[in-house]
Amino acid sequence: MSFARLVFRNRLAALGAVVLGVILLLVLLVPVLPLQNPDTTATADKFLRPFSEGHLLGTDHLGRDLLARLLHGTRLSLAIGVAAAVIAATIGSAIGIVAGYFGGRVDNIIMRGVDMLMAFPYILLALAIVAALGPGLMNALIAVAAVNIPFFARNIRGMTVSLARREFIDAARLAGLGHTRIILTELLPNVLSTIVIAMSTTVGWMILETAGLSFLGLGSQPPQADLGSMLGEARAAMITAPHTSIVPGVMIFLIVMSINLLGDGIRDALDPRLRSGALSRPLPRTRVARSGPVPAADGKGLLALQDLQTQFHVGPRVYEAVGGVTLHVEKGECLGIIGESGSGKSVTALSVMGLVASPPGVITGGAVRYDGEDLLDAPFRKLRQKRGQNVAYIFQDPLATLHPLYRIGDQLAEAILVHHAIPKAEAMERALGLLKDVRIPNPESRLRDYPHEMSGGMRQRVGIAMALANDPDVIIADEPTTALDVTVQAQILALLDALRRERGLAIVFITHDFGVVAQLCDRVAVMYAGRIVEEGPTQAVLEAAAHPYTRRLIACVPELGGGQRALEAIPGLPPSVDELPPGCAFAPRCRKRTEACTESPIPLAGTTRRVRCIHPEEAVT
Ligand code: ADP
Ligand code: MG
Repeated sequence: MSFARLVFRNRLAALGAVVLGVILLLVLLVPVLPLQNPDTTATADKFLRPFSEGHLLGTDHLGRDLLARLLHGTRLSLAIGVAAAVIAATIGSAIGIVAGYFGGRVDNIIMRGVDMLMAFPYILLALAIVAALGPGLMNALIAVAAVNIPFFARNIRGMTVSLARREFIDAARLAGLGHTRIILTELLPNVLSTIVIAMSTTVGWMILETAGLSFLGLGSQPPQADLGSMLGEARAAMITAPHTSIVPGVMIFLIVMSINLLGDGIRDALDPRLRSGALSRPLPRTRVARSGPVPAADGKGLLALQDLQTQFHVGPRVYEAVGGVTLHVEKGECLGIIGESGSGKSVTALSVMGLVASPPGVITGGAVRYDGEDLLDAPFRKLRQKRGQNVAYIFQDPLATLHPLYRIGDQLAEAILVHHAIPKAEAMERALGLLKDVRIPNPESRLRDYPHEMSGGMRQRVGIAMALANDPDVIIADEPTTALDVTVQAQILALLDALRRERGLAIVFITHDFGVVAQLCDRVAVMYAGRIVEEGPTQAVLEAAAHPYTRRLIACVPELGGGQRALEAIPGLPPSVDELPPGCAFAPRCRKRTEACTESPIPLAGTTRRVRCIHPEEAVT
């Protein structure tokens, strides 16, 4: 979505932009507008009311035309305020970046200096600067800019410190870039949005400060008009001729309000976290917009996907992440889903419980049946009950899924309490039982640990305990062992297998590793570009893969003790799912491709073994 549209989605920001636009247009047109000379006095005409002959807004105590003074004054105030903001932002950010990037002593010296500036009351400091430099608009500008520098320096330093220790900066150093290059090309672009945000929200404030100094007679000098000095001069006649105060007062109000409203809009639109969709709050479940008929229940499996289609609608582009997946898993069975990164495994898994973020995710077709019931049009209350209670998830990175500030025991108890109204002590008791179930040593003391105090393998056990908390019937494990080393991986797999047998769990195990599938899964489905290209009993698929893609995927797996053999990487990359070819998506990388492969969609043929290929390596039945 374009930046302007993001900003203007916020109505108040749009209003601010319109008001500010009108004011800017007026002050830019000042030289060509038929205005009177703002400094011409005519004491006979003093304090004329607004709408009097020849003076639309009346006159002030010296008979000067208020409209002319207002527009000239606004022009000056805006220019000074914006200039002060630009100067403060430039100098402040430069100081902040340098301090944050170099750290150590440089940081200390610079930031203590900034702290000293900040220790003075703000307006007193500005007054002191003007007093030292002498009154005048330029000096007011310098004073306002100077007192705002610490604000930018602190803000930007904070951001830079966290960025400067990140890997991409190390990479830039390794690439031999100098400090200046790193600061300008690596750091600056990352903090630029923060600088703009800080500026857009402080410009109004700086205009007020400049006006304040002028009001006290320290800024613009007579007869030059700016909004502050107009207010200052009108003060004596506030009761007898209130319009002389109201005119500049209203203008200041309009300018500052419109800048702040627009600034808020810009901040929301620029903030990368808000931009990725947080502003358009994700729905509690994935949006379902099925165009075709809903497939009828076929009684297969405890959990069954029927021709499931999930897309991402991003602007004009449509990403077909899942393009018609049919799968089922029985009680006590382990189904493997295997495929390269980006093949749509996670999106398939998340679609089951409506967990794909929406927008941009939309389920556009098919059905998800749990025990025969279609979850896609179940009421949200029912779906929520099933989440965790009937179908639970285990994700790849337990550190990201566990709350960093709560103890393990409390988090487990919370998961239990969501679905069961039992006393907290009983929930803790159950949490302890869960930790024992997942074979965590010393479970009593582990209950009081924080996630960061555990090793990766331990954390993943907690992740599994969390999934087991409400005794689900189906567990969907999305690459749960990818982040672990092989010995821990073997333990986790053994644990999952044991739990499956003990509890009669159905497991959907997502992985990109055929070795893992061979160890754990009864059946396996191979995904490519959002579709299943082959499915069957694990043993049969491993021994005689039918789809050329599966063949080559298996050929990529190194074999221990299998002697030396060249590992064959698959040339090329998976296609982008927003421009899938008709027919077989693997064809461009396939050795057996023919004309027919890319002409029309290829069905998934077969019964126990199914394959989506017109030149299979093995005949399937
Ligand atoms: P994986 O098989 O590695 O788990 P995913 O299911 O995460 O793959 O992703 C499937 C496809 O969906 C990828 O091509 C990815 O680019 C696309 N995708 C995922 N999330 C989004 C999103 N928010 N917007 C657009 N495309 C997305
Ligand atoms: Mg994934």
